[in-house]
Amino acid sequence: MEPNLQVRKILTDLNYDFRAFTIEHFANWIEKAKGREIHLIPWQMPSGLFGAWMSDGENPREFFFFRENAERLLQIHIQLHELSHYLCGHPTKIITKKQIQDALEKGIALPFDEMVKLRSPEMNAYEYEAESLASLIQEQIIRNSQIEQLTRGISSDKKVADSLKNLGLI
Ligand SMILES: [Zn+2]
Repeated sequence: MEPNLQVRKILTDLNYDFRAFTIEHFANWIEKAKGREIHLIPWQMPSGLFGAWMSDGENPREFFFFRENAERLLQIHIQLHELSHYLCGHPTKIITKKQIQDALEKGIALPFDEMVKLRSPEMNAYEYEAESLASLIQEQIIRNSQIEQLTRGISSDKKVADSLKNLGLI
């Protein structure tokens, strides 16, 4: 999947340092950049749905639900995918403060079924875009963690550092 220029620009504009990546740190960064609270919530999702993003229509808050009984790596992917929908500025389900309170406090179901039904060709384009941004983010995470390991290796190994110094390389 080749991300288009627009998707690349969204990530560049976010100006995030992926060396610091944890899902929470990334969410906090988006929170500051957008000026809206980001809530990542493990949830018992209905079958056929791994994650969902809902926007609070009354307060500056975004809710990202992800399947609670999924593998940790898949959970990260789901969260990145849903956050990508938000970063791309896609439309989503707007919920009220009462709906979210009822769901969190009384376990009253959220309108997930309405989201599953939204399967127009336009939605497919949104899915493609979100998935390509999520892949791009994952690519950055992997790339930056490797660079960090490499740098750490060089600075901690005195012998290597000394010989590089002797060669005039550092
Ligand atoms: Zn999606």
